[in-house]
Formats: sequence, structure tokens, C-alpha cells
Amino acid sequence: MSADRTALVLGAGVFGLEASLALAARGFAVTLVDEGPVPHPLAASTDVSKAVRMDYGDDDAYADAMLVCLERWRERNASLGEKLFHETGVTYLSRDAMTEESFEHQCYTRLRARNIPVERLDSAAIHQRFPAWREGFHRDGYFNPVGGFVESGRLVEALVAKAVSTRIQVTLGARVAGFIERGGAVRGATLADGSTREADITVLATGAWSSFVLPELATQVRPTGHPVFLLRPRAEDAHVFEGARFATFGSDIARTGWYGFPLHPREGLVKIAHHGGGRELHPEAIDRVVTDGQITALRAFVRDALPALADAPIERTRLCLYADTEDGHFLIDNAPSREGLVVATGDSGHALKFAPLIGEWIADVCERRAHALDGRFRWRHTRATRRGEAARHWGEHG
Ligand SMILES: Cc1cc2nc3c(=O)[nH]c(=O)nc-3n(C[C@H](O)[C@H](O)[C@H](O)COP(=O)(O)OP(=O)(O)OC[C@H]3O[C@@H](n4cnc5c(N)ncnc54)[C@H](O)[C@@H]3O)c2cc1C
Repeated sequence: MSADRTALVLGAGVFGLEASLALAARGFAVTLVDEGPVPHPLAASTDVSKAVRMDYGDDDAYADAMLVCLERWRERNASLGEKLFHETGVTYLSRDAMTEESFEHQCYTRLRARNIPVERLDSAAIHQRFPAWREGFHRDGYFNPVGGFVESGRLVEALVAKAVSTRIQVTLGARVAGFIERGGAVRGATLADGSTREADITVLATGAWSSFVLPELATQVRPTGHPVFLLRPRAEDAHVFEGARFATFGSDIARTGWYGFPLHPREGLVKIAHHGGGRELHPEAIDRVVTDGQITALRAFVRDALPALADAPIERTRLCLYADTEDGHFLIDNAPSREGLVVATGDSGHALKFAPLIGEWIADVCERRAHALDGRFRWRHTRATRRGEAARHWGEHG
């Protein structure tokens, strides 16, 4: 099927790259276009690390999908020829005792139900196992040995190399300006330099830029900015942030938004970020910077929770953008009234960990096969009644 079919993929972040590789594997002749360079400095996929977790509160569909992805991340450490996925395990810690409805408790019970050797931790155990945390700061929580983080920027580099070696036509330095419409269908795209690229199926995977390339998407996704901080611990303290003693973490994440990572194996920095409501802005806005207020909030958190980082220099900050949907689920569907166009975006700050399945989810939609995960990624025609992504601190605009 489709040996003679052509696909044009717009955007070479993790959505576009995985879609391109999956479509090529199904016999499509694929052209991948990005404004570049790739990894693009403003792209969400470009970062030193992204969390890889199956801890999704009471959402079994995401947890089950992550069980598949985790296996594939481990395989990718071999197939991609370098270790990009670091399985440090994850800790989700709670300031108060975990309650039935708390994010941490819902994760804990579902992990146990899946026979994951999760360990519940009280305040003393947290301090004994993970000494970087201020004693008594968290009263409860758990350590899940499954999961950790992936070096996302390097993953993008590896996937581009794989795309080129798979004879995918990769065109960088090309900005998509619009679509070619013929006979009521989308038949490709026009580029800012006036040239065109034609294809039977076009996939729009331009992340937080997507609602600017396809304005009707503005009802579905909006670009929101979220702060990321990279701190350098003192040399004599660095050991307490190494993976075995400081796992990828959420610190009362659904109530505070704070999460972070162990000492980065290459950068020697500790990344801490905030998973909150975010601030709406254009991906190329000049005020796309972390504010003083956000730095003050970060300082207050580390002063209280991670004393060894209280005075650590912040080496880098970044305001990274989500393509945010109202319910926090991704958007992967045929564009209504635009035959030939598939939209693949809506990451809402948590999609990269699903990279090993995202390509198939998008290719299935291109081939009008099944919609993944009970159809939750379909185009929304009504307002959300329930928010997904239980780890997110929706309330606060970080
Ligand atoms: C602060 C932050 C923290 C995150 N943490 C995690 C995490 O811990 N775990 C996790 O699983 N996920 C996380 N995510 C989400 C993850 O980063 C995204 O889900 C994923 O990277 C989205 O990939 P994408 O391909 O949709 O977009 P992007 O990576 O942004 O790629 C879009 C591409 O489109 C190109 N493009 C845009 N417009 C045009 C145009 N007009 N013409 C040509 N090319 C164009 C850009 O150059 C870019 O390369 C986080 C995101 C942020 C912002």
C-alpha cells in the first residue's frame, strides 16, 4: 500500500521527525521541511533533557502507552548508537501525606497494580535515599525505578541523521508560508522563498508555531511559555545530585508545578522547570525570556527544598513553549474541511516521552486508520469538560 504515495512533513521537531520516519517505513516518499537549523534553538524539542515517566495519575491510557515507549527507549539506546535515555527512575514527592485523590497516590496505586517495584518513601527514607532534599520538606512520596530522562536535543540530531540515511528528503532553511489548495484539497505547501513542495498528504508539525501557519488552529492550540533553569551546584555538592541519589522528580508537582532532573551527565548542571499554566506569547516574541519574578520563585523553591542549590549560579534560563490544548491532550487528526492535511501538534508540554509511538499515531491518521488512545487526540469541536495531564499545576500562570 502507498508505495507511490508522497508525504510532505512541515517541522522537524520530534513530531515531524517521528512522523517522517514512520511514513517512510510504510513506503511513502517523504519530504521534510524545517526553517532550521535543526535542532532549532527555539523549538520545544531542543533541550538538554525531558522527563520520561509512566506516572500519569489516574490516566491508564497514557500509563499503558508509556509502558510500550519505555521498552522502545531502552532499545533506542542501542539502535541510535548512543545512550540518550537515562533510566534514573523517578520520585514523586508530596509535602503532606498522600491522600486517595492526590496525584502521587493515584500514580502509586496504579504502578503497584502494574507490578512496578515502586517504593513508598516517608520523610526519613527520602532524606536517607535522596539527601539533597531538605530533611522533612516532603512527608511522603515514592520512588519508581522505571523512567528517567532523555537528552532531547541530541535525540533530534540522531533522528535527523536517521532520516537522511532513510532517504527522506530533508530541506532546511525553508519557512512554510502557506498551503497549495487544489480541487478542495491540500496538495502541498508554499515556502517563503516562493518555491513549492507538492505531496498527496501534508503533515503540519510546527509545534507552537502551528496556529500561525494554520490560523483556524487557534481554536485548538495556543502557544504558552514555561520557565526552565539550569543551575551549577558547587563541586563539593555535585555528588548529591547524581542520578543514583537524585532521580528525575516532581515536588508536589500538581500543586506547585516544580519538577527537575539529576546532574546532567554532559552539562554538569541541574535542570529545574515549572509545569504550570504558562504565559501566552508568539514563539518569536522579543519578550520570550524568563522574568525576574520567575527567578525569584525558583530561588524560593530551592532555598526551601534543596539547600545545596540555594546560592548555586543559574547558568542558563529558557522560556520554552508548549503548543497548548485546553484539555492537555495532543492534537493529531485530519484537519476538518481540509482534505489532504493532517495536523500533529498540541503537545501541551508532555509529548516528547511518547516519541517512540508518536510517529505511528500520526501515520495511522494519514492512512485514515485508527485514532490512538480512545480518540482523545482528535480535533476538538466542543470545549473541554475535564483537564488531562494530572501532573500539571494548571492553576498558576508561571
Ligand atoms: C519547558 C518545557 C518542558 C518540557 N518538558 C517535557 C518533559 O519533561 N517530558 C516530555 O515528554 N515533554 C516535555 N515537553 C514537551 C516536548 O518538548 C514537546 O512535546 C515536543 O518537543 C514538541 O515537539 P514538536 O515537534 O511538536 O515541536 P518543536 O520541537 O517545537 O518543533 C517544531 C519545528 O517546527 C519548525 N517550524 C515552525 N514554524 C515553521 C515554519 N513556518 N516553517 C518551517 N518550519 C517551521 C521549527 O523550526 C521547529 O523545528 C516540554 C516542553 C517545554 C516547552
